[in-house]
Amino acid sequence: MKNNCFCAFCRTPRRIYKRRNIGLINISYAALASVLVMYLIWKSFDPRVLMVFAVFLALTEVFIQLRWRMSVPCRQCGFDPVLYIKDQERAVEKVTLHLKSRKENPNNLLAKPLNLPSISREKSEALQNKEKRGTLVSRQI
Ligand SMILES: [Zn+2]
Repeated sequence: MKNNCFCAFCRTPRRIYKRRNIGLINISYAALASVLVMYLIWKSFDPRVLMVFAVFLALTEVFIQLRWRMSVPCRQCGFDPVLYIKDQERAVEKVTLHLKSRKENPNNLLAKPLNLPSISREKSEALQNKEKRGTLVSRQI
């Protein structure tokens, strides 16, 4: 497993699957598998192979998308960039929950502490206060 990026929140080096959709290799594997299944079931060429091929393609696509989606959230801090874009509040909730359970897990007692971003009291207050948002915070985040 080679790391290819850093977590946007805790800066831990991590890996996200690059492939989000089906590619040429997956299509050829699906074709190969469906030909194999065709000979196993019908013993010769059968046009129903196209249906098998379509099912294999759909399954591969779903699998690749799920694999990508599962690889996106950080395993260390629980930060999920995809969720953050859609719903910031829920992303914050998830990270808070994850960090809490991490704290309570005895396996993490000796683990390296996460490099979490720290903000000053001034900035934290600006984040709470919607009017000040943007003027003080945007430059530093
Ligand atoms: Zn992280």
